[in-house]
Amino acid sequence: MNSRYDAVIIGAGHNGLVCAWYLARAGLKVRVLERRGVVGGAAVTEVFHPGFRNSVASYTVSLLNPKVIADMRLAERGLVVVERPISNFLPQPDGRYLKLGGGLARTQAEFRKFSDRDADALPAYYEMLEGVADVLRDLALRTPPNAGGGLKDLLAAASQGRRLAAMPLVRQRDVLDLFTKSARTFLDAWFESEAVKAAFGFDAVVGNYASPDTPGSAYVLLHHVFGEVNGKKGAWGHAIGGMGAITTAMRAACEEAGVEISLDAPVARVLVDSGAAVGARLTSGQEVFARVVVANVGPRILYDRLMDPADLSPEFRRRVSGFKVGSGTFRMNVALSELPDFTCLPGKAIGEHHQSGIILAPTLDYMDRAFIDARLHGRSRAPIVEMLIPSTVDDSLAPPGAHVASLFCQQFAPVLPEGRSWDDEREAAADLIIDTVDAAAPNFKASILGRMILSPLDLERTFGLAGGDIMHGAMSLDQLWAARPFLGQGDYRGAVRGLYLCGAGTHPGGGVTGAPGHNAAREILADRGVMGRLFRGERSARG
Ligand SMILES: Cc1cc2nc3c(=O)[nH]c(=O)nc-3n(C[C@H](O)[C@H](O)[C@H](O)COP(=O)(O)OP(=O)(O)OC[C@H]3O[C@@H](n4cnc5c(N)ncnc54)[C@H](O)[C@@H]3O)c2cc1C
Repeated sequence: MNSRYDAVIIGAGHNGLVCAWYLARAGLKVRVLERRGVVGGAAVTEVFHPGFRNSVASYTVSLLNPKVIADMRLAERGLVVVERPISNFLPQPDGRYLKLGGGLARTQAEFRKFSDRDADALPAYYEMLEGVADVLRDLALRTPPNAGGGLKDLLAAASQGRRLAAMPLVRQRDVLDLFTKSARTFLDAWFESEAVKAAFGFDAVVGNYASPDTPGSAYVLLHHVFGEVNGKKGAWGHAIGGMGAITTAMRAACEEAGVEISLDAPVARVLVDSGAAVGARLTSGQEVFARVVVANVGPRILYDRLMDPADLSPEFRRRVSGFKVGSGTFRMNVALSELPDFTCLPGKAIGEHHQSGIILAPTLDYMDRAFIDARLHGRSRAPIVEMLIPSTVDDSLAPPGAHVASLFCQQFAPVLPEGRSWDDEREAAADLIIDTVDAAAPNFKASILGRMILSPLDLERTFGLAGGDIMHGAMSLDQLWAARPFLGQGDYRGAVRGLYLCGAGTHPGGGVTGAPGHNAAREILADRGVMGRLFRGERSARG
């Protein structure tokens, strides 16, 4: 059966759904083709052990844009996000611990256990981070200026740079530092305690296959603080029912707006005719024709696997092969009979530390070693683990008294050296991760009732993430803003006419933000000359 739509979207990840919704609300006839049997992409809630469900991939919310939440009326559709009482808990090798969050005064008191100087520096650090994060927030819903686009794009660049230029010099220096320095160099200028530096530096290696000593890693730290929860800037929270609650609400909004969503509908080929994208062919052979084709999949999947090489220039194909993917992430979900009992803070009853992001990576040196190990051996001997136990704030996920935990682990080589396969090593890596938690909370291993393992290869196979990259591509300076995914294509328009990208591989990048989907829809509508009420007061790359 052949059909014709205004837009066909490849992928029902959250950005695909956001894009579909804005297009449908502007009156377009939209069809979404999703490879899996569920919508949501990396933002889903699934049963992974009988009686236990969890956000099996992404697991905590902050970056989801307030405009998207409001426009799609996600709260009215049942989305409830609760804030963690404190943000992080870091057990230390010397038997102490550091808690972060719960207000400035409390965090300062915690820091004083390690350094008076660091406690005193904290207000200015937060103020600096907030100031710079505000610039990012401001840019998130703006289309980056396009290199090579002529005068209009130069003017757009000048307009976006104006906000930066208006900052005091001291803040401009902070921006430069954050965009160019390593997390360690950056943090060394602020703090002296290793525990404090680890607490902030951890964000720099999340989804970033790099050392905290890698230049540019400070930016990734910043990327993790530009969000908010219920209006509270920088906070991270939990969506009741898991991340799937976000995409379930988005799906309802899409269906109400008339979007057709096809599940179990993997796309094999983007159809191109006379240099323009005209539709998609499913692996079943069915062809769906549309005026525009929108890729929610990442740039590598789109250009390497879904397009006929003959439709792309050799120069462009070479550039695509140079697009860096592979965030070095290993993800586990575990069903627990009881809460972990930490040696440094004993107790099995729910404590605020159980409700926080528990970071098992006590120093920047530990994180650096993990990366070096991974580069040499494929994985670290002492892995970086963040554990979240969402059932401590959401009793819909596990049977009474039992719990589910997300283990989010960094520095696992996207591709193992010497031709080794993650299929052969995933169990051993999972055991090591569990031993790492067990070393801090000795009842952990014995409390595990079931586990789900997602190696980088599993992340690629299950969620369609090239190289298992949770961001659809490295968040390095050469792949950000106007250069995401490629310089000259930073405005959501793809390599052929009628092709657009709307996923995390475009500005402002990875995370459950909805921003790429929102911005891509605005550009598509601008090209059709119908920006619509929902984008009133916003500028497209077309002016
Ligand atoms: C393990 C993990 C942990 C993370 N943790 C967090 C977190 O806690 N907080 C946060 O904000 N972000 C987190 N992230 C990042 C965030 O989840 C992603 O960056 C974001 O979800 C990407 O959304 P997207 O809609 O752009 O793409 P995706 O969610 O990747 O959606 C793309 C969709 O395309 C589909 N698809 C692929 N190939 C085809 C095909 N051939 N045909 C049809 N459909 C296809 C996929 O199945 C998928 O549904 C995490 C990601 C992962 C993987």
